[in-house]
This record gives sequence, C-alpha cells and structure tokens, in this order.
Amino acid sequence: MSQENKTVLITGAARGIGWASAETFAGRGWNVTIGDVDIAEAEKRAAPHAERMLALKLDVTDSASVEKTFAESLTHWGRLDALVNNAGIQRHSPLEDLTFENWSKVLDINLNGSFHCLKAAARIMLAQGSGAVVNLASVAATRGAAGRAPYAASKAAIVSLTQTAAVEWAARGVRVNAVAPGYVETDLVRTVIAEGRLDTKPILDRTPARRLADPQEIAKAIFFLCSDEASYITGHVLHVDGGFEADFGVPFFPPREVGKA
Ligand code: NAD
Repeated sequence: MSQENKTVLITGAARGIGWASAETFAGRGWNVTIGDVDIAEAEKRAAPHAERMLALKLDVTDSASVEKTFAESLTHWGRLDALVNNAGIQRHSPLEDLTFENWSKVLDINLNGSFHCLKAAARIMLAQGSGAVVNLASVAATRGAAGRAPYAASKAAIVSLTQTAAVEWAARGVRVNAVAPGYVETDLVRTVIAEGRLDTKPILDRTPARRLADPQEIAKAIFFLCSDEASYITGHVLHVDGGFEADFGVPFFPPREVGKA
C-alpha cells in the first residue's frame, strides 16, 4: 500500500517527540491522530493541518478513554496502520524517599498506558493482518538512573513488552519495535533543567555526539520503524542516542579536543 493512505495514532503528541513525529508522518503523506491529555495544545497545533491531523483528548491511563480515542480515530480515517506509544512522564526522587504515589503515577502512564493502547491497536491490526507499533523506551531502560527509579523501571518494562508483543504477533503481520532516545531537547528535558534537576554538562560529556538530540531526529527513526522500509524488523530496540549506549564511558586520556582526529 502506498504511504499516502496510511494512518498513525500517536499518544502524547501535543508537544515534544510526539509532535515532531506527527509532523514527520504528515509530511510523508500519512493521516495522523494526535491523542493527548492536553487537548487545547493538541488542537492548536493540529488546526493548520486539519486535512492530515485529528486531535483527540486521550488519557492513556484510562482504558475507556483509550477505547473511545481508537474508535473515533478509526471512524474518522477508516483505518489504523501504526501506533506510536509516546506519552510519558518523569518523577525525580532518591529511591528511599520516593512515594508510592509517584512510583505508581509514572508506571501508570509510561507502562500501563502503553499496554492499554497496545491492546486497542492490536485488536484492529491483528484483524486486518497488518500494522506497526513503536514504543518509546530510553537509554535509561538498560542502566541504573539515579533519582529516576520509576522512569527507568517503566522503560525497562517497555523493552520487555515490546519483545513479547513482537514475538506473539510477528506471524500475524503486526510488527512491534521500540526507539530508545538519549537526551532530547523537549519540554520534558527543558523543565527538569529549569528546575535544577538536570545538569546538561555531564550528559554532554557522556554523549559521544556531544549534543542533545533534536526531536525530529527521534521522529525520523520512529517513522522508519513504522514504514514498509522496516518490513522485516520486529522486536528491535533502536537506540537514537548519539552513541550513548555504545560508549563504555571512559574518555580519551589525555583529553582530545572535539573535532581533532
Ligand atoms: P513531553 O513532556 O515533551 O511530552 C509528553 C506529552 O505526553 C505531553 O504532551 C503530555 O501532555 C502528554 N501526556 C502526559 N500524560 C499523558 C496521558 N496520561 N495521556 C496522554 N498524554 C499524556 O515528553 P517528550 O520529551 O517528548 O517524551 C516523549 C516520550 O519519549 C516519553 O515516553 C519519554 O519518556 C521518551 N523519552 C524522552 C527523552 C527526552 O530526552 N526528552 C529521552 C528518552 C525517552
């Protein structure tokens, strides 16, 4: 099928990586449903692209809201070819002080929300025998992440869920992959920097590319995995992290200047 008739539903797409993905899919001729709790921002952004974008209020933690959003999207566009499970939050705290409320809130959105949406998408995709899902993981999925226990645990679980869904549905035409970004310059990251809970220097020192990602760079990887170009890729975690995951973390000694061989 040509990419022009395809439809994607992206959760948490009112801003950040989700919005960059919405722009990327629409720019390549896909129809896009933007599902977000922040419906005012979603509608504002989608309005100039009304022929390609539909904004719907979605709370991924509420299974009734998920069912309603998928049904409305399907009625509007007539099909669903891809889901991007992108909605996600962070709560920072030393583990010993972390409240169960904050632990649960992160797990509820990042993991349970992805589960609700995955099931809603699977019902449509397994019936039609085709579809692609991309779940947002993180470099924090495979490492200890000081002060971010529920976030890292939720992303590790996302990787596991991705692999299980992929092996269960591969023979039925539905591919499931994950994208694991490094640090991306979005509201989520800008907020924690502004609140003094993130210092970019050690991150840049730790990232071989020596810069944060632009949201569009993550969006292009998400699009690739949803497209027919990735037709034999499933159960994969694609790191889009400027070399973060690959790096053992011990720099040159003596230090070299950036740009010098
Ligand atoms: P963001 O904070 O900029 O945007 C998140 C969006 O999700 C917001 O529009 C918010 O309204 C929406 N949202 C929150 N709760 C929701 C809910 N219950 N239902 C529906 N929508 C909800 O975030 P971002 O930085 O673009 O991150 C997007 C995804 O990428 C997240 O899963 C995040 O964990 C992951 N990620 C981000 C980075 C980064 O550096 N920004 C790095 C690795 C992974």
